Amino acid sequence: MLVLFLNLKLIFVATTISHIMSGNTTFTMIKPDAFEAGKTGMILQKIIENGFRIKALRLSHLHKEDAEAFYAVHKERPFFNGLVKFMSSGPIVAAILEKENAVDDFRKLIGSTNPAEAAEGTIRKLFAESIERNAVHGSDSDENAQIESNFFFSQFDRH
Ligand code: ATP
Ligand code: MG
Repeated sequence: MLVLFLNLKLIFVATTISHIMSGNTTFTMIKPDAFEAGKTGMILQKIIENGFRIKALRLSHLHKEDAEAFYAVHKERPFFNGLVKFMSSGPIVAAILEKENAVDDFRKLIGSTNPAEAAEGTIRKLFAESIERNAVHGSDSDENAQIESNFFFSQFDRH
């Protein structure tokens, strides 16, 4: 009996871990350009219409140090200082989104980094001004989705 119970528990734990690892969540920010221009509602609507469920949501204003930490992977790039200045220039809306294949599907929904190259109907094509002011962030891997979600949200802020 104990063996059966332990086996069932193991299966439960394994299923839960594989569910968490299987890429069903991603992290996004509506960037200061889009927030300032009043596009938050339209962007959230587009995200929900495309099958993403909101697991956490927050309006924040990043300090320069927060933006530096968030985009630390780009610190050697020539655009880093401009990126940090822009991301800390005004409020952002951060969210955790849930959907099967969330990271890849969300990257498809937002489109290329440069809106001039983004496909028709994508969020960046519709709402972004330029490569520097490109309306939204989307995680680029499951691992980064977890790291970025934890950067913004405690367990109590998620449902
Ligand atoms: P994000 O991480 O914000 O979702 P991304 O993954 O499409 O964007 P990254 O390569 O991670 O693109 O770059 C992070 C951000 O840095 C971009 O969103 C963009 O605003 C800025 N950036 C990237 N490449 C350039 C560039 N060549 N010139 C100016 N800004 C750039
Ligand atoms: Mg990126």
